[in-house]
Amino acid sequence: MAILQLFLTKLMFDTIIIGAGFAGSVLAERLATQKNKRVLVIDKRRHIGGNCYDRFDDHGVLIHQYGPHLFHTNNKPVFDYLSQFTQWKQYQHEVLAFIDGQKVPVPFNLNSLHALFPRSLADSLELKLIDKFGYGVKVPILDLRKVDDSELKLLADYIYDKIFVNYTAKQWGKKPEDISAEVTARVPVHISRDNRYFQDKYQAIPKYGYTRIFENILNHPNISLMLNTDFKDIFSIDFKTGSMRFMDSPFKGQLIFTGLIDELFDSQFGELPYRSLDFQFEHLETEQYQEKTTINYPNDYAFTRITEFKHISQQTVSGTTIVREFPQDFDRNDPKKNIPYYPVFTPENKEKLDRYLSFSKQFKNITLVGRLAENRYYDMDDIVARALQVYTDKFA
Ligand code: FAD
Ligand code: UDP
Repeated sequence: MAILQLFLTKLMFDTIIIGAGFAGSVLAERLATQKNKRVLVIDKRRHIGGNCYDRFDDHGVLIHQYGPHLFHTNNKPVFDYLSQFTQWKQYQHEVLAFIDGQKVPVPFNLNSLHALFPRSLADSLELKLIDKFGYGVKVPILDLRKVDDSELKLLADYIYDKIFVNYTAKQWGKKPEDISAEVTARVPVHISRDNRYFQDKYQAIPKYGYTRIFENILNHPNISLMLNTDFKDIFSIDFKTGSMRFMDSPFKGQLIFTGLIDELFDSQFGELPYRSLDFQFEHLETEQYQEKTTINYPNDYAFTRITEFKHISQQTVSGTTIVREFPQDFDRNDPKKNIPYYPVFTPENKEKLDRYLSFSKQFKNITLVGRLAENRYYDMDDIVARALQVYTDKFA
């Protein structure tokens, strides 16, 4: 390690990036290839890819270590950018929810309506929905509940009770109306017979998995990697002067930070809350466990959903691997709970976040980008778009 340290300090990096997920990796690639910058990417995990990391398990099934990741976007520049680093396989995600003994499409749509309601009632509700909102329209559940028609209001309450309230209680420990409306609006009621989870123009799975994309993005002589390293152990910032130190030497380059914003600033305005997950994987000696990639269990069990990876990887390997997701509070001090998968989006947290964000603005050599650093519910395409934008705005 001592030799490695000496070697790294002597290399004199222009930019140090904390986090080898999409935010950090895309910026490393842009700076290295477009600006010839020498970049060091540090991650505390033993691998690249952040939460999008996938790997083959002991049975040869390609699993997503941190939960199912399905790529979807309407953003052509993002799709074109990523296509430099991967080929794609066709894939359209479908999810069922186990409701009253039946598995019905989620987002709740006209097919779900007909599966759960007697025919004449379903027909009349369908007509009313189309009349009120139009065919093909997506209506967030919290908006549907405000409808003035009494029959549609009953339907909205039914969907709220059966699909949203208990799932959200498990996932967030809160009621749907006590978290940002954008969270449940991700899965709106869809007045349509389209059973797909997403309707985006580009939906696909990387042909050789996500980790291979990251290997390709980071494969450049100007980019060095330091894994299994918490930045706090080797990097420090004097918040009064803005000066930074890297491995006991002054660092005068740029810091790009994609970890927890409150952690970067020593939690000086208080800790921000996050939700974590316990992923329980199981391998089964059967060819197929369930009919679709993901089945949600809003009202039963302590987990929220089960995902079967072979539907995604489309492998022909024998046996199958599933994962159950058990939501839990994030706890920095418990190794089983210390991965902050989701920022918690409430008004109190927003106020605290804004204090961190405005404090961060005084440090011209520090750039915050990423789901954790910006505390935003970014999907993969959002974060790639954001990293490309940050590059253009600040570094191009
Ligand atoms: P991350 O991928 O979290 O990367 C941040 C990196 O920073 C991590 O590797 C972390 O180890 C590192 N780091 C943090 N702190 C430190 C430190 N102190 N020192 C060193 N390194 C540090 N998006 C989709 O588009 N489709 C999906 O289907 C989808 N499914 C998801 C399912 C789950 C369960 C989750 C949690 C997310 C899902 N996402 C999905 C979102 C996707 O994971 C994110 O958009 C993406 O990972 C964000 O990239 P990032 O670089 O901001 O963060
Ligand atoms: N949700 C729900 N029931 C479902 C699916 C989703 O209540 O069957 C709500 C829940 O609050 C969840 C949010 O919608 O956190 C967003 O769901 P999504 O599938 O987008 O979550 P992610 O894949 O990001 O965990």
